[in-house]
Amino acid sequence: MSARKATSSRCVLRCFGVGEGWPCAERRHASFHYHIGSTRLVIDCGDGLSGGYRAAGLGGEGVDHLVLSHMHSDHVGGFSMFIQGLWLERRRKPLYIHAPASAIPALRAWLKATLLPEELIGFPIHWNALQPGLAIECGGCTLTPFPTRHLDSLKRKLQPAIPAICFEAYSFLIQSPKVRIAHTADIGQVSDLEPLLTEPLDLLVSELSHVSPGALFRRLRTCTIRRIVWVHLSRRLWKNRQETGRTLVDELGTSGARIARDGDIIRL
Ligand SMILES: [Zn+2]
Ligand SMILES: [Zn+2]
Repeated sequence: MSARKATSSRCVLRCFGVGEGWPCAERRHASFHYHIGSTRLVIDCGDGLSGGYRAAGLGGEGVDHLVLSHMHSDHVGGFSMFIQGLWLERRRKPLYIHAPASAIPALRAWLKATLLPEELIGFPIHWNALQPGLAIECGGCTLTPFPTRHLDSLKRKLQPAIPAICFEAYSFLIQSPKVRIAHTADIGQVSDLEPLLTEPLDLLVSELSHVSPGALFRRLRTCTIRRIVWVHLSRRLWKNRQETGRTLVDELGTSGARIARDGDIIRL
């Protein structure tokens, strides 16, 4: 069954990679495919994206929008391979790539460096610089990026010496008339989530690596969120995931306790 035919659901989320920054035999790196109405979005391009995408039966036309939250390798390492796959699968329709503004020149240069100049690949790429709080129309839904402090400490450390690095990082709110979803990507502080939590959510897809779990759980307990899916667990929490799962149930109840694995499909 094709992914396009599979969606009588309001949203189908395919988790291609739920890992964090460390190499892991059981988890690929960050990549997620959202099918909402007739729109298909991939958020982040960790390595393993191409394999997960193909395993889901998706071909050259199986994505409309590619969204990059920030430039850490666990979120972008599979980027050029994914574009190569779309080229080999003879994609023809445009691809919209939404990325931090200061990352776009590097991404374009990367495609050239990996022998994938835009003149070759056979489909147009429309580049769009993410702007804080500005909603992007994506067919039947909108995607709104909100800046996070995930890279702030690295910026303080590196920017004086290496000013050209992209230190932008974003979380996302995805909305359609039928569904409201928050996708954290990587955050720096629990307060980074505030713009995502102003109204009830149907789904929160949250990382669990970079902030204190206790502080995060306390904040989430005050919100109306129908389902939470945990991804990007730290190595310690992943290794002890049975215990982590019990803690999640204690803190947030069963609707807030799902720890995703690669290949998981979540339907709303
Ligand atoms: Zn990460
Ligand atoms: Zn990161």
